[in-house]
Amino acid sequence: MQSRNEADLTQYNTLKLQSKCQLLFRINRQEDIPQAIALAKAQGVPWFVLGGGSNVVLSEYYAGAILHMHIRGIKRELVGQAGNADNGTSDLASRAEYTVGAGENWNLFVRQSLCEGYGGLENLSLIPGTVGAAPIQNIGAYGVEVAQHITGVTVYDTLSESFTLLKPQDCDFGYRSSIFKRHPDRYVVCNVRFSLSKDAPYQLSYAGLAEKCDASIAGNHVNIGKVISNIRKLKLPDPAVLPNAGSFFKNPVISFTQFNSLKKQYPSVAHYPEKNAVKVAAGWLIEQAGWKGFRNEKVGIHTEQALVVVNHNGGNAADILHLAEQVRHAVLEKFSISLEIEPVVLR
Ligand SMILES: Cc1cc2nc3c(=O)[nH]c(=O)nc-3n(C[C@H](O)[C@H](O)[C@H](O)COP(=O)(O)OP(=O)(O)OC[C@H]3O[C@@H](n4cnc5c(N)ncnc54)[C@H](O)[C@@H]3O)c2cc1C
Repeated sequence: MQSRNEADLTQYNTLKLQSKCQLLFRINRQEDIPQAIALAKAQGVPWFVLGGGSNVVLSEYYAGAILHMHIRGIKRELVGQAGNADNGTSDLASRAEYTVGAGENWNLFVRQSLCEGYGGLENLSLIPGTVGAAPIQNIGAYGVEVAQHITGVTVYDTLSESFTLLKPQDCDFGYRSSIFKRHPDRYVVCNVRFSLSKDAPYQLSYAGLAEKCDASIAGNHVNIGKVISNIRKLKLPDPAVLPNAGSFFKNPVISFTQFNSLKKQYPSVAHYPEKNAVKVAAGWLIEQAGWKGFRNEKVGIHTEQALVVVNHNGGNAADILHLAEQVRHAVLEKFSISLEIEPVVLR
């Protein structure tokens, strides 16, 4: 296992926050995990797993050990009978079970599964980051959450000091949450298992998606993945051009009672249905509170996407978190709704 002292993490996070850590371990195999944790413990420092760095706010100095996830490998097992398909995939088995290393790039895996003829993950195309991070906050987009396709997660459990295969019901997946997000010091994800199907139903119910996927292009999962990628490229800033961590705030989930009084005052409030509750669009709240497009000399709120905090000019974690707090305060004052930050803050 390779390791470095006083390593620079600036290139390892999409907000391009200048950051250093005391120790950096490159995790190439799952056996490296207990070894790295033991070395961190021996030095009396905490540890933290870093994937692609697209959902973290890194402090300027982390006095601990970063486990940088690089476990690779995509294994595919075919299940079920071939035949009965009218979309050119009749020679394929009906389902594929993929076991994917935590350090694989998420979008490349999605593209591979689609190109091999297996659908399910197309709506999650172009989400940055690693496969191992996908279950952490149960990534979701365009009406699909990754938990719908996960059949198992192999973890290193620091409590039992052993490798364990967790079933989906053990992961307690919810909206941008899971057992892993709630117990960050307990589990390190080594690989994730997915069940994908050549006949997976298309999910086009998300606002505006069905119109973009007209009959001529909706014919297969690959094309839907391409449509989603194109929409995302138009809507979201590319972190390589304008550093950001995607949506910085979760969409707040509120009761029907609270929503009804909000709607009375603001009839155009953007919202989505949620089980026994209503999910309000955080971007709409931020825009109404007057913060869309705000910028100071270092950081700002994106001009097109009020949910996205951007690092214009060498801002650090404190600059980003100060701005997020100003936005949170403004939304709380105006709507009595408390926004929650989506990325994980490493202090
Ligand atoms: C432009 C942009 C668009 C985005 N769009 C979406 C979107 O549509 N939907 C969505 O849900 N998210 C979105 N995100 C957020 C982000 O891409 C996802 O959360 C992604 O899964 C993070 O992956 P990562 O490898 O970069 O994780 P990191 O940022 O490196 O880590 C995130 C968290 O996961 C933990 N973690 C990472 N890997 C492991 C592991 N192997 N074991 C244990 N813990 C681990 C880390 O400790 C940290 O707590 C977007 C981000 C950007 C920049």
